[in-house]
Amino acid sequence: MTEKPARVRFAPSPTGYLHIGSARSALFNWLYARHTGGQFIVRIEDTDRKRYVEDALDDFLTQLRWLGLDWDEGPEVGGDYGPYFQSQRLDLYRKWADWLVDNGFAYRCYCTPERLQAVREEQRQRKEKTGYDRHCRYLTGQQRAQYEAEGRSYVIRLAVPLEGTTTFQDAIRGEISFNHAEFQDTVLLKSDGWPTYHLAAVVDDHLMDITHIMRSDEWLNSVPIGVLLYQAFGWQPPVWAHLPVILNPNGKGKMSKRQVIGKDGTVVPVHMRDYQAAGYLPDAMFNFLAHVGWSLDDSTEVFSREDAIDAFAIDGIKPSPAAFPADKLAWIDGVYIRERDDDDLYLELLPFVAQGLDMSEQEVDSRPELRQAVPLIKERMRTLVEAAPMVAFLFEDGEPDYPDPQLLVPKKTSRSETIDILEKTSASLAALPEFDSDSVEAALRELPGELELKPRQVFSAIRVAVTGTNVSPPLFESITILGRERTLLRLAAAKQAVTALTEDG
Ligand code: GLU
Repeated sequence: MTEKPARVRFAPSPTGYLHIGSARSALFNWLYARHTGGQFIVRIEDTDRKRYVEDALDDFLTQLRWLGLDWDEGPEVGGDYGPYFQSQRLDLYRKWADWLVDNGFAYRCYCTPERLQAVREEQRQRKEKTGYDRHCRYLTGQQRAQYEAEGRSYVIRLAVPLEGTTTFQDAIRGEISFNHAEFQDTVLLKSDGWPTYHLAAVVDDHLMDITHIMRSDEWLNSVPIGVLLYQAFGWQPPVWAHLPVILNPNGKGKMSKRQVIGKDGTVVPVHMRDYQAAGYLPDAMFNFLAHVGWSLDDSTEVFSREDAIDAFAIDGIKPSPAAFPADKLAWIDGVYIRERDDDDLYLELLPFVAQGLDMSEQEVDSRPELRQAVPLIKERMRTLVEAAPMVAFLFEDGEPDYPDPQLLVPKKTSRSETIDILEKTSASLAALPEFDSDSVEAALRELPGELELKPRQVFSAIRVAVTGTNVSPPLFESITILGRERTLLRLAAAKQAVTALTEDG
């Protein structure tokens, strides 16, 4: 490890649930902290009271934990640099805003909303760029004293240099310059005493000893204000690293905050919580997100947290925006599912299967079927939600129901042949001395020859009869888990259903 321990932060605003793009930013910060042996800090930027969403904070913390992004300082864990909620740091922002005014870098602006509106209107009529006309920047001492005496409310604005440029080095984007003329005298402190993002972020990043700011590209335009503030305060600025935006899965346009459509036309969730609910494994999600805009090397797609921590480097982040590879996720998840230990996977599946089957977890857990089915279904599953429909037939007792009995009749097979298959299967399973999967398999493999039918025909009829669908876990094992009694019951019911078809038609 050559780099110095970094102090990095994830600084979400609780204005909505954790977006997948923000989760990626959090993950890169976490990786960098872990790579350098530094600290990952969570700071809640809750100064926008109008857009405040009550349960957003809980969602952020739940999702970060779910992804395994533990934080060294922040909500619930505390730390030496707290408080970690901006709403609890208002005194600090006020203090530093006043400092800027006292030292000539900022000024009190007493303009009323009506005046600002009128200024904008005039600018519009003159077809000029709209914005604050810096009226209060040039008040005389006397005017200022008068406004103060009147007790007028005010905001504090940054006095942006009128000429020149601000240049800074972005660790991903390289050197970037901005003309001061393009910047307004931005508000730093609002009339109600709450800071704006610009002031709060700089004060906090400095006081919290943040060494690197890694965040989405959309914040790039705020850096010049940040640089000016660092210069005014005489503080050492952090390293900025702006992450390229994530594009929609089709590569066109920035990934939406609301609804995203995948290449195959299906809706791609944008909130982390929806991925959790959809049954992705957190390790797979971690791997997937780490690979959006960064890669371990040119070829490795599946890698562990440890590998990612070892290899992570800011200069390995690709500067060009990448499309959101939604179609890769199910594949990666399948890889992680197959690698999972059966017992662990069983525990992870329980809530999903219970929900899918409308049963309680205890009920599912009190029966042997899911435990027995795990080794069979793990080869075929890509997400945890896919398990319930695969194992549903194992939890059905009693008379089966074939809503579409035609499915029982395999392609290129007559109804009477199907009836033969079902009868023969019953007879041979009924006669087995042992009902284990080897014996079941051996018995059923005899049938195509005896019936002079193709294996595909025979096994398809049995599969639909026994499991109700033609996509199920491997047949012989499924039958074994189901047990002799329930299997024979289903075969008989299936035969009846096909016979009824024959009579009708
Ligand atoms: N509060 C900002 C957000 O919600 C954070 C920007 C930053 O990381 O500086 O994205």
